[in-house]
Amino acid sequence: MNEFDAYSSRSALSTGLAGRCPRCGQGRLFDGFLATAPRCETCGLDYSFIDSGDGPAVFVIFIVGIVVVAAAFFVEFTWRPAYWVHIVLWGPAILLLSLGLLRPLKGLMIAVQYRRKAAEHRSGG
Ligand SMILES: [Zn+2]
Repeated sequence: MNEFDAYSSRSALSTGLAGRCPRCGQGRLFDGFLATAPRCETCGLDYSFIDSGDGPAVFVIFIVGIVVVAAAFFVEFTWRPAYWVHIVLWGPAILLLSLGLLRPLKGLMIAVQYRRKAAEHRSGG
């Protein structure tokens, strides 16, 4: 059994978004808000392969940017509120969406990375 043998029946999407171990789908991936644990507490998978870098932050910027700009246009053209309403709405919205998405997206990228390494291992590469 190699450490990149994937044996979870759960998809990378569900384990990643839930912040679970990409191999067994049980153990916690995170030890803190964004810091990853050293290894899986359930199956012992060594998390040292993880190198997500700035990838999750880039996706968060794209997603939050599109969602907030679209919502701001909708509110402006539907109700034409005072400008302070936009500040009160979108300031906290940007903060909450960004913080809320960062961890699930980091988990997702790690899970996809694990699956790719598992596939490389099986093909001998
Ligand atoms: Zn595990």
